[in-house]
Amino acid sequence: MPELPEVETVKRGLSKAIIGKKIADFDSDWRKTINYPLPRYKKIVKGKKIIAVRRRAKMLLIQLSSGLNILVHLKMTGQLVFRDKKRCLMGGHPIEKSCETLPNKFTHATFTFSDNSNLYFNDVRKFGWVRLYSDTELEKVFAKMGLGPEPLEPDFTPEGLFSLMKRRPRSKVKQFIMDPKNVVGIGNIYSDEVCYYAKVRPDRLVKTLNAKHAKLIHDGIVKILKAAISAQGTTFSNYVNSNGEAGAYTKKLKVYQRYGKKCYYCKGTVKKMKIGGRTSSYCPVCQK
Ligand SMILES: [Zn+2]
Repeated sequence: MPELPEVETVKRGLSKAIIGKKIADFDSDWRKTINYPLPRYKKIVKGKKIIAVRRRAKMLLIQLSSGLNILVHLKMTGQLVFRDKKRCLMGGHPIEKSCETLPNKFTHATFTFSDNSNLYFNDVRKFGWVRLYSDTELEKVFAKMGLGPEPLEPDFTPEGLFSLMKRRPRSKVKQFIMDPKNVVGIGNIYSDEVCYYAKVRPDRLVKTLNAKHAKLIHDGIVKILKAAISAQGTTFSNYVNSNGEAGAYTKKLKVYQRYGKKCYYCKGTVKKMKIGGRTSSYCPVCQK
């Protein structure tokens, strides 16, 4: 599943392509992708203009005129593809040959703009969605999700993180970091990286951590996510150059999926363990 840096990268690529465009038509072949019957969805979005593209947690928020919003969750295998006469841009899950035939068997939602360009939502496993909400509904949806702070916004602080830690003493650090109620956008990859940065074992209980640990975890989250965002700048890009290519941050990963290999710091062996069904890599020497 894409984590915050990947969704942020899609957002940046998509913003340049679709802001200012007017929706002329909409189509969908999968009921669960959308939250209204198709004719109603179509009627609501037709004629609306895209005014902004934002991100909240791992979701994309396409803001339309008249106080409407399209909330997109890519889930495990979702992908957005924008195509006009000159280019084809794709972001999200890599699906082979996505730009060759569109729509294709994975396309479950299509926005057609007034200049005949299109935005396709492709999804192999069909868990993702493209839901329509008014501004008021959207606030309620977010409130119901109980989302914690955005890690790159000023309200995410070491002190705030530490007080949340006190409220969830029995959590393991990795699970704590991955829980969107504590901080949003962090999944399996970046939680491993953050634990390594903070020198704490991923299975360590949160109640054994002090304010200094909280500061280190906070710093790790911010630094790692920022570096990953700048390295992933190519994920949402031209089809010919980057279809299927992993973001550049893959090369910078310090511990994620490195089990069996040498720790870059102490030269000991990186180990793995299962936490909540997920494989976590850590260095037993560097991380306590
Ligand atoms: Zn080590």
